[in-house]
Amino acid sequence: MSRSAELYRRARQLIPGGVNSPVRAMRSVGLEAPLFLRRGEGAYVEDEDGNRYVDWVMSWGPLVFGHADAEVVAAVQDAAVGGTTFGAPTEREVELAAEIVDAVPSIEQVRLVSSGTEAAMSALRLARGATRRDRVLKFAGCYHGHADALLASAGSGLATLGIPSSPGVPTGATADTVVCPFNDVDAVAAAVERYGEGLAAILVEPVPGNMGVVPPAPGFLEALRALCDASGALLIFDEVISGFRVARGGAQERFGVRPDLTVLGKIAGGGLPLAAFGGRAEVMEQLAPGGAVYQAGTLSGNPLATAAALVVLRRLRDPAVYERLEASGAALEAGLREAVAGAPACVQRVGAMATLFCHPGPVRDFDTAAAADTERYGALFRHFLDRGVYVAPSQFEALFVSTAHGEAEIERTVAAAAELFA
Ligand SMILES: *Cc1c(COP(=O)(O)O)cnc(C)c1O
Repeated sequence: MSRSAELYRRARQLIPGGVNSPVRAMRSVGLEAPLFLRRGEGAYVEDEDGNRYVDWVMSWGPLVFGHADAEVVAAVQDAAVGGTTFGAPTEREVELAAEIVDAVPSIEQVRLVSSGTEAAMSALRLARGATRRDRVLKFAGCYHGHADALLASAGSGLATLGIPSSPGVPTGATADTVVCPFNDVDAVAAAVERYGEGLAAILVEPVPGNMGVVPPAPGFLEALRALCDASGALLIFDEVISGFRVARGGAQERFGVRPDLTVLGKIAGGGLPLAAFGGRAEVMEQLAPGGAVYQAGTLSGNPLATAAALVVLRRLRDPAVYERLEASGAALEAGLREAVAGAPACVQRVGAMATLFCHPGPVRDFDTAAAADTERYGALFRHFLDRGVYVAPSQFEALFVSTAHGEAEIERTVAAAAELFA
């Protein structure tokens, strides 16, 4: 028995399903046991049995400079020596806030939290508090963490497991959640017409990554902005994936549309548990202690996470990083496109995030994504693994390009895909 299988057997007795986040179980791609990983370096991970893989999961997005980046590791070690948490303000928090405000066009003030779930949940509460309205409009296939109100048609994790929603979410918690198809302006306009007066926010992944990568259709994000302006709802961009990835300033920079509030996580945390939400000062100032909308966190802005995030965000000031990410993303896209040519498959990419759909495409919303051949994707996953390439164990996810990925890693990946689709 492999060490991974052995560990999994033990894990299942001690941890529900053997994992601390459902998609890690790798069941949907037909694996008996998930890989237990013990080490990462650059673009590679190594499992407990000593196998090395080119890693396109990158912890689901955060690692824009690859695993165990020397500068990040040094900063975290350095910070740890000085104390791992105080629950009091620190200079690094101010520095990190300044870095985020400088990078993200619509953010004037920002608050740090510990996970994307917490950030999205808090941004929604703030939008509701600021507008004194309850309803929220979200999109099928967009994931915003696992807060009750947002677990309706929530993409990846649930889609992978075929769960439409979750038991334990009271009907009341999603009663004010309206779900529309992504990229469908008419549906959103009709919903705003119907619920506009009570609508607190439109919440969207501007470049969804949780139904696989689906680019926003030209004019879609602009239409959301206009509908919010007309109805008084706040526009919230969940840029937990797209932030610092599709551009330094995220999708709002790349597509030139400014939301009222922005949710950040993944890259923004530099590979440690840190996320954030921010926006116009006038809205953000309604948070306690200055305002009445309550939100708090014992480990928020903790020294290790802010140290890592500062290193990463400062390095992202260099435009050469994004030139490299774009070039690598384009090379990966072109290679995979050629590999799947003639097959019922397509490749969709925005910057440093891409998905190979086992669907002829184009995939423009969750209904199209859900029609992908997930059996075929499972076969693809297993074939990749066999060739030393580790991709997301779910069709409804992305390949995350980092600066650690180079020609050799792209070539190996493209060659493996070409073998399977030949
Ligand atoms: C990952 C993700 C979240 C949740 O972040 P966690 O840190 O896993 O809680 C929220 N929104 C989007 C778009 C995400 O991809």
